Amino acid sequence: MDKKLQTTITIVVAILLVGGGVFFGISQAKKGAKCPFCGKYYPHANIMGHKLRCPQNDTDLTPRSGKEAK
Ligand SMILES: [Zn+2]
Repeated sequence: MDKKLQTTITIVVAILLVGGGVFFGISQAKKGAKCPFCGKYYPHANIMGHKLRCPQNDTDLTPRSGKEAK
């Protein structure tokens, strides 16, 4: 195979991989982050707060204040 052509193919494949990775990252960012407890998607800004308050999260990370007692 022509070495120049091989280099061109390598560069094109690399661009496609990077482009695909960026596109995947953007689509994931738009979709948000998946909560590991309830499996729902939340915006990245809210996922940390949601994880702490998720009803499916049985590991209680917040100290009991009594304020949120039902
Ligand atoms: Zn959740």
